[in-house]
Amino acid sequence: MSRFEPNLRIPGPTGLPPSVRVAGGRQMINHRGPAFAEILGRIQAGMQPYFGTSGQVQVLSCAGTGGLEAAVVNVLSPGDRVLGISIGSFGDRIAKIASTYGADVDVMAAEWGWAAAADEVRERLRSGGGHYRAVLITHNETSTAVMNPLHELIPAIRAAAPDALVIVDSVSALGAVPFEMDAWGADVVVTASQKAWMSAPGLAMIAASDRAWAAMETATMPRFYLDLRKHRDSAASGETPWTPAIAVVFQVDEGLQLMEAEGMAAVFARHEASAAATQAGLEALGFQLFAEPANRSKTVTAAWIPEDLDWKPFNAELRRRGLVVAGGQGKLTGRIFRIGHLGSVTVEEIIAAMATLEAALLAAGRDVEAGRAVAAAQRAALEASGVRAAVAAG
Ligand code: PLP
Repeated sequence: MSRFEPNLRIPGPTGLPPSVRVAGGRQMINHRGPAFAEILGRIQAGMQPYFGTSGQVQVLSCAGTGGLEAAVVNVLSPGDRVLGISIGSFGDRIAKIASTYGADVDVMAAEWGWAAAADEVRERLRSGGGHYRAVLITHNETSTAVMNPLHELIPAIRAAAPDALVIVDSVSALGAVPFEMDAWGADVVVTASQKAWMSAPGLAMIAASDRAWAAMETATMPRFYLDLRKHRDSAASGETPWTPAIAVVFQVDEGLQLMEAEGMAAVFARHEASAAATQAGLEALGFQLFAEPANRSKTVTAAWIPEDLDWKPFNAELRRRGLVVAGGQGKLTGRIFRIGHLGSVTVEEIIAAMATLEAALLAAGRDVEAGRAVAAAQRAALEASGVRAAVAAG
C-alpha cells in the first residue's frame, strides 16, 4: 500500500507480504525431487492445525472452485440425494456443481444477509423425505459477508442425518478463524491459496475424513485431474500427481511460516480486530451494514450503497485515491459494496481504507465528520483485540 500500490481491499486475492512476493519469484525446482517433497510436507503439516484435523491435507493446483468440484465428485454418485444449504451465491455454486454431475440436489436457501439456522436445518433434514447422502454448506459466504456458525451447524447436521457426508466450502474463511474439522464432524473441507493464506491464486487445499475416504472407494461421479486418491498416493512420495503451481506452492509455504511466527491465536485476533474496525468505521461513515449482526464475517464486510450515492463515480474516486473495494455479486450487483479483510490484512490498512472512504465522501459533499470513522475503527479494533481490557486491568 503506497502511492503506487493500491490498498487492495477485495475478499481475495489479497495483497502479498514482501517475503511471499519474493518466494513466488524463486527459481523453479524439480517437482519430483526432495526439495519439493520437503515443501509439500511442510505445507500439509502446517495446514493441519488450521483445518483442525489429524487427517492429511491434499494440495491441488486449481482455483477454489476446482477444490469444490473435487469435494463433490470424489465422494458422490449420480442420483445421490444432496441437501445444499445456501446463504448466497457461493452456496448456490456448490449446489450447481453437484447437480451438474448428476446429484439430486435440494437447495435450502436462507434470505441473503442471514446465516443458516441450526433448528431449521435440523428440521429440514428430519422431514426431508428420506435419506441425504451429503449436505453442502458454505462457511463464509463471501457474496453476503455472512459467516455460518459451523460449530453449531455441523454437529446439528450430524445429529439429524448421521449418514450424510458434510461438505464444507471454507474457501474464504479457513486460516482466518478457528476451525475444528474433526471435532465438529466435517467430512470434506476446502480452502484456497488467495484467501487467508497470504498467497496468489492457484492452489486449493482439501482435507477428507475417514468416512469421506471410504466414500471415495464407491463414489461414481467421473473424476481424473481432481481425483483425491491420486493426490493421496502421490503425496506418499512427496509429490502431486500433476505438475503443481510451484510458484504458489513456494508462496503458501512462506505464508504459513509467517503465520506460524505470528501464532495461530494472533492471526485469528488480527482478523477479529480488522473485521471490528471495518464494521465500526463503515457505520461511523453512515453506511448501513448488509449482514445480520450476529453472524457478520471476520474476513469480509458488506455495506449497502446509499440510494442517493452515485456509486460509479464514487468508486472511480476511491480507485483514484488508491482504494480498491469489491462490488456486489449476483442480485446484489450495484446494491452493496464489500471490503475484504483477510490474509495479511492489518488494522492499519483498514484504518487507511476508512480515511480514503471518508475523504471521498467529503469530496462528494456528503455530511460526514472528518476523523470520526478512523476513531471508531481504531476503538473497535482495540476493543476486539482485548487491548483496552488489558490496559484497564493494569
Ligand atoms: N467459495 C467461496 C466462499 C469464495 O469466496 C470463492 C471465491 O471468492 C470461491 C468459493 C471460489 O473460489 P475461486 O474464485 O478461487 O474459484
